[in-house]
Amino acid sequence: MLTAIVGINWGDEGKGRMVDLLSRDYDIICRYQGGNNAGHTVINDKGKFILNLLPSGILRETTVNVMGNGMVIDLEHLVGEMESLREKGINITPENLKISDKAIICLPYHKMMDILEEDRLADKKFGSTRRGIGPVYADKYMKKDIRMEDLFDEDALKERIYDLTEWKNITVKGYGHEPVNPDDILAWLDKFGGILKPYVTDVSTYLHNAIEDGKKIMFEAQLGALRDIDFGIYPYTSSSSTLAGFAPIGAGVPGKKIDLSIGIMKAYSTCVGEGPFTCEMFGEEAEALRAAGGEYGAATGRPRRVGPFDVPASRYGVRVQGADVIALTKLDVLSNMEKIPVCVAYDVDGEITTDFPSGSKLNRAKPVVEYVDGFGDVSGCRTFDELPENAQKYVRYIEKATECKIKYVSVGAGRDEYIEVE
Ligand code: GDP
Ligand code: MG
Repeated sequence: MLTAIVGINWGDEGKGRMVDLLSRDYDIICRYQGGNNAGHTVINDKGKFILNLLPSGILRETTVNVMGNGMVIDLEHLVGEMESLREKGINITPENLKISDKAIICLPYHKMMDILEEDRLADKKFGSTRRGIGPVYADKYMKKDIRMEDLFDEDALKERIYDLTEWKNITVKGYGHEPVNPDDILAWLDKFGGILKPYVTDVSTYLHNAIEDGKKIMFEAQLGALRDIDFGIYPYTSSSSTLAGFAPIGAGVPGKKIDLSIGIMKAYSTCVGEGPFTCEMFGEEAEALRAAGGEYGAATGRPRRVGPFDVPASRYGVRVQGADVIALTKLDVLSNMEKIPVCVAYDVDGEITTDFPSGSKLNRAKPVVEYVDGFGDVSGCRTFDELPENAQKYVRYIEKATECKIKYVSVGAGRDEYIEVE
């Protein structure tokens, strides 16, 4: 059984929270793309955790957690994340954490390049998380990165790092920055790579065998459909594929098909960083929603842009994720609204549409907003029937608009604060 848990919107839909819940039914949880630009917040009986690199299944003793070849890993950050989880009593060993030998290492100079470029762009910035993700993926496709397996051949690694820094310094100097010292990079790799070596695994073979043995595997996405490098709001996307279809490739089992795609979709919209966000709300209404939802980035602390549920964007997200079912999150956040706005369509050059446009058409799109009746507190509801009638209507409306079955409704951040819809 291969399941992907993916984001339908711009990210921060609550993927970590749903992985933490649904991982009870899986043996292996695997992250397949992205780096420490992710921020997955999980609140359960062990405390509150913010996961950047580790799969959210790490909080459950019964799972093995895998970091796939599609990821880019800042070794120093990973070591720090592991330490902080251990301080909270989480057990992390080579038995329950396996890092792909083919995963890319995000080096300190990738982070530096990210910051230099964002600063150079000034008010034209992309809203990068400044953690080196764009630069390291760019280098991956230029075949100028190193992978976890390279840590095991010291002589070859030294030669490679000397070659790479010589090349990288051509650009670094262009920014007027002092050149990168290869020995500093080697020392960094030795220090943090040394700690992580025991976790490096031929993940592709490991997963292949696990599938043969009938294990249940869950692939955990970072970011949402609209940040996908190909199908998202390019160029305001991430630098990797966030889609369910990419999961087997980024995990290490290319050629396998996922059996189930669970789309995580928020009951309203949020967007971190720059780029078109058609349904964006401003002023008091926005401030109230931001405060109610606690919409401040987990990785960066930045206030998230907010808006109502967006039908065109969500329908599109469901389609590109091939979502079979939906987990609708944060319904409780709308509890205090008397009237709830919904972006039911876009007006693109006078044409009303529920199709999600791209490029300059998207930039010109204006939201068509309608209001539905509010429903009061839903945080204590544990069955669909317990939901107030207007809340049931809201869920059914979204289900119809996105043409996808809503299987779970999350009404709180805690592990058990959810409804499974019959
Ligand atoms: P992710 O990146 O998709 O994993 O999402 P984030 O963790 O960045 O953002 C989701 C936030 O909402 C986290 O702080 C969660 O603890 C919280 N959360 C998740 N589901 C719910 C819910 O149903 N209700 C409320 N109130 N908070 C939720
Ligand atoms: Mg997040």
